[in-house]
Amino acid sequence: MSKPTVVPCPQCKAEVVWNEDSPFRPFCSKQCQMIDFGEWADEENTIPGAPDMSDSDGWSEDNY
Ligand SMILES: [Zn+2]
Repeated sequence: MSKPTVVPCPQCKAEVVWNEDSPFRPFCSKQCQMIDFGEWADEENTIPGAPDMSDSDGWSEDNY
């Protein structure tokens, strides 16, 4: 029997056993996985200057 591979969680540095018992590897838990996912998702969703047409009726004509 070989020893299981253990990797550090990228988020909290907890030891994560690299096998089927760790579905969120290399993260230790779903929480840590979501933290990492949220960080890059926030960057992806940042749209500078996104148009907001909801309340522009009064003054928008001059801008176009
Ligand atoms: Zn963790």
